[in-house]
Amino acid sequence: MMGDVEERLRPASGDPVRLDAVVVGAGFGGMYAIHALRERGMAVVGIEAGGDVGGVWYWNRYPGARCDLMCVDYSYSFSEEIQQEWTWSEQFAGQPEILAYANFVADKLDLRKDFRFETRVTSAAWDDARRVWAVKTNRGDHFEATYCIMATGPLSIPKDPEIAGLETFAGDIYRAQKWPHEEVDFSGRRVGLIGTGSSGIQIVTEVGKAVGEFYVFQRTPSFTMPMRNAKLDAEDIKEIKDHYPSLRAAARASALGGVRPAGNRAFFSLPRQQRLALLEDAWKNGGHAVLGTFSDLLVNPDANEQVADFVRDKIGQVVKDPKTAEALKPRGYPIFARRPCLDTDYYEQFNKPNVHLVDLFEDPIEAITPTGVKLQSGEVPLDALILATGYDGLTGALMAFEVLGRDGRDLREKWQYGAHSWLGLMLAGFPNLFMVCGANGPAALANIISIDEQNVDWITALMTHIEANGLATVEPTPEGEERWMDIIAGLAEKTMLSKANTWYTGGNVSGKTRGLTMFTGGFAKYSEYCQAVADSGYAELVFQPDEALVGA
Ligand code: NAP
Repeated sequence: MMGDVEERLRPASGDPVRLDAVVVGAGFGGMYAIHALRERGMAVVGIEAGGDVGGVWYWNRYPGARCDLMCVDYSYSFSEEIQQEWTWSEQFAGQPEILAYANFVADKLDLRKDFRFETRVTSAAWDDARRVWAVKTNRGDHFEATYCIMATGPLSIPKDPEIAGLETFAGDIYRAQKWPHEEVDFSGRRVGLIGTGSSGIQIVTEVGKAVGEFYVFQRTPSFTMPMRNAKLDAEDIKEIKDHYPSLRAAARASALGGVRPAGNRAFFSLPRQQRLALLEDAWKNGGHAVLGTFSDLLVNPDANEQVADFVRDKIGQVVKDPKTAEALKPRGYPIFARRPCLDTDYYEQFNKPNVHLVDLFEDPIEAITPTGVKLQSGEVPLDALILATGYDGLTGALMAFEVLGRDGRDLREKWQYGAHSWLGLMLAGFPNLFMVCGANGPAALANIISIDEQNVDWITALMTHIEANGLATVEPTPEGEERWMDIIAGLAEKTMLSKANTWYTGGNVSGKTRGLTMFTGGFAKYSEYCQAVADSGYAELVFQPDEALVGA
């Protein structure tokens, strides 16, 4: 059944196209899923709304877009050939380089021939009588597949700010999550930016370099730390390429799936001077070193507050205007409870005469008008408005179309009070459906490429088990799902991650049930749980035999 995707997608009869698996999404998870399933000899098709591979890196072309994980971690580990052939130019790669890497992998593995781009899934429904997923798209495709793999990503549904008058703005609107492919020139223009999360912070540092007047509308300030990115020279590259096996092994054994260093000292186990010296060192080293210096920053509120004070002091040392500095200092939530951001000269931008911080707590936005942003104190006239207001994260992508399980059970109904699944991988009542980097796994709390690879490898091993045992369908028991959700809830209670209003908890989307539904026990522990299930012969999963084989 293998062959060119276009050919296979247009059967003369108009009947559904029969496949072994449909994969939704061409980000790093979907790309690896297509490769791994094809390696098993399966007939697959990938469906992707974007025009090419790359997922979030295809869409997020905003100025300054960059990964906050080092490429040595944020890259595929499954192919030694790819590791050796691809050469990163810096420690933390920018979006163009990451997208080039995705394209390199797609070329190397000839992935595009099995992807259907610029196509959206409109529904996926399980047909219990025929034991297939019927998947339909906005281009009129109708596939039937034994398995459906949702590699839809935790951050793919952009969220606009709910501000009156947005649609009336007569200038240009740019969204961080769907940035134009051509370069945008802001020089000499009056530009506003709403949103100061990871995306907004990166935009500020880049747009701040060449802009007329820049107004940064900040509601909640984020904690951000220096990235201290560095070019990789020939010696660095050799060192990395010679040591990939041990680097990958260390990543797999770590809580974050690759981010290092990871300290095992409790904050108060050291005297004050020593703690401060370690924090200073970490600040100088850059990256996530501050987060990794101590083991208990997300479970000990006093330790957390002292580190928050340390970062607030640093902001005060950079920003010259005391009022602006004060407004930029995050307060009222624990450091690291929102995604910790990394930047290059973010706070420095606010020392420029043409970069203005607008503190929305002091002077809220009343409306967007055709000519600018109307604050309580008056209007800020603008030529362009940038929105970096985040995503309907974790659940948004799978709730954006109809997913119907056994007996027509609707995923939107199952998830109406939040994401609920088994290991973030499977759903009770939805046979043969898998999620890659699903909402109840480590998702945003660890290196997503590590999760993608681990998930896909686990899924393909289960498929091998199914085939080897003459089985046809698999799904978790409702009890198994409850047990997993209890584990997640128990762990979540111990961290401070839910103490900020973020996309981690659904707190950024009005009407969404709030709660931390990710696995907070770390990537390595998560992998152990998954492996233990496989080792137990897949306890908590129920299988149905392949009727074609019964009595054969
Ligand atoms: P985000 O962290 O959710 O930030 C959205 C921002 O928009 C927040 O500052 C939010 O303020 C603000 N906002 C939303 N509605 C608003 C309104 N009506 N008025 C004023 N402000 C409003 O979204 P993001 O920055 O796109 O980042 C999302 C995630 O993507 C990150 O957490 C990270 O996981 C990932 N990411 C990673 C990188 C990287 O690797 N370096 C870069 C970009 C993104 P409030 O907090 O007050 O709601």
